Amino acid sequence: MAKAKKEKLSDKLFYKQKNCWDEINKKAEKEVEEIASSYKKFLDTGKTERECIDVICDLLEKNGFKNIDNISIDQEPVHKILKPGMKVYQNIRCKSVIAAVIGKKPAAEGFNILGAHIDSPRLDLKQKPLYEDSELALFDTHYYGGIKKYQWTTIPLSMHGVFINEAGKKTTVKIGEDPGDPVFTVTDLLPHLAKDQMDKKAAMVVEGEDLDILAGSRPYADKDEKDRVKLYVLDLLNRKYGITEKDFTSAEIEFVPAFKASDVGFDRSLIGAYGQDDRCCAWPAIQALLSLARIDAKNAEVKSIPAKTAVCYLSDKEETGSAGNTGARSLNMQNFLGLLHGGTEADLRLSLSRSSMLSADVNAAFDPTYQGVFDKKNAPYIGRGIVLEKYTGSGGKYGASDANAEYCAKIQAIMNRNKVQWQCGELGRVDKGGGGTIALYAANLGIDVLDCGVPVLSMHSPFEVISKVDLYMTYRGYIAFLKDA
Ligand code: MN
Ligand code: MN
Repeated sequence: MAKAKKEKLSDKLFYKQKNCWDEINKKAEKEVEEIASSYKKFLDTGKTERECIDVICDLLEKNGFKNIDNISIDQEPVHKILKPGMKVYQNIRCKSVIAAVIGKKPAAEGFNILGAHIDSPRLDLKQKPLYEDSELALFDTHYYGGIKKYQWTTIPLSMHGVFINEAGKKTTVKIGEDPGDPVFTVTDLLPHLAKDQMDKKAAMVVEGEDLDILAGSRPYADKDEKDRVKLYVLDLLNRKYGITEKDFTSAEIEFVPAFKASDVGFDRSLIGAYGQDDRCCAWPAIQALLSLARIDAKNAEVKSIPAKTAVCYLSDKEETGSAGNTGARSLNMQNFLGLLHGGTEADLRLSLSRSSMLSADVNAAFDPTYQGVFDKKNAPYIGRGIVLEKYTGSGGKYGASDANAEYCAKIQAIMNRNKVQWQCGELGRVDKGGGGTIALYAANLGIDVLDCGVPVLSMHSPFEVISKVDLYMTYRGYIAFLKDA
């Protein structure tokens, strides 16, 4: 007969984190695969902020969310029409979205907000990008967000974006994603001739101005013409999209890695893909919102209406500091919540100060190859669940909104009540660098806000890696927050 195991004091007093794979059952494993597979599809169809918004607005419409701009055109103010369980959203310039499920409690009691971003580091075309040199056509770029420039050479790139003509007509471009499409690339020097290059500091190995994209090499047939390779490219673009060189000056054209999201590892426990910062939080955030007040298969009955109004805000421009009229420093979120609230500006401010938010963003997972930059005790680990990050910032917590202890404990309690496995995490060793999120802009409004998301390996690289089980715990954590905060 087995002896009853005596509980050790250390088991009672020490804080230990467990690997989520050891803790989940067969049913949960199935759910892990389900969210992973919908997420990979999202990554492949949403490679830019505009494409993400297209996918998400489509999804919101299919799930019964109404565009608030269409409602407000009708006579009555929006807040008078809203009832618990109703679902509304706003598409902000095709690059950001805010969606809400109206709760049972009045807006005056505050909102529960999930805020993630859907822009990712990439190469943007300059305004006069196309040139010819040595019978090669090349695009001049200005990189967007924090990248290690050398990582963006010698990989297949795809072209995404919009041209807008003077009449306002929008032409959408996506080349390099469909089977059989051509792709593009930034060339790099062969090792044989790279003696001087290899002696340079990594930041200078490939310089920003040299991230030029190879776009063609075939001359236009008419030999009386100049720059015939450039001309051939423009002729093709003109035939297909009706554009001329001038149209690049107003366009937004982004180049991103052309490869698709894949499972990584023999055990398929990981996902490798471009743009996971921050789509690995944006996707579970929007899915968490959709899980509330979901319309069932019979297209009937609205279920699980949240107590407080649940909001999901997906912002643009986080990777360049959240400026701009689609970024989180704009008044977009306040404007939207003001419509739901319907009171005076002072009323809205009071309601914001009673609101809770998770700044849904990624953290750097501990990487055994680069142990030196992490504090092993305080780094988040792949496979240990959603990361609760009390503060971000750098060197002396500079720029961190630093969530207060009361709020951290409240969120931990929500996770524990709902059996969501979580870990705490800090971005790297003290004074090794740092970074920020949109949390501080919410904190400025008096909102209680905590950074909370998925740990990532190779963050900001063309091929970032996350764990499926962390994605799953994050999804469940976001649902728990919206229902319970
Ligand atoms: Mn991020
Ligand atoms: Mn980032």
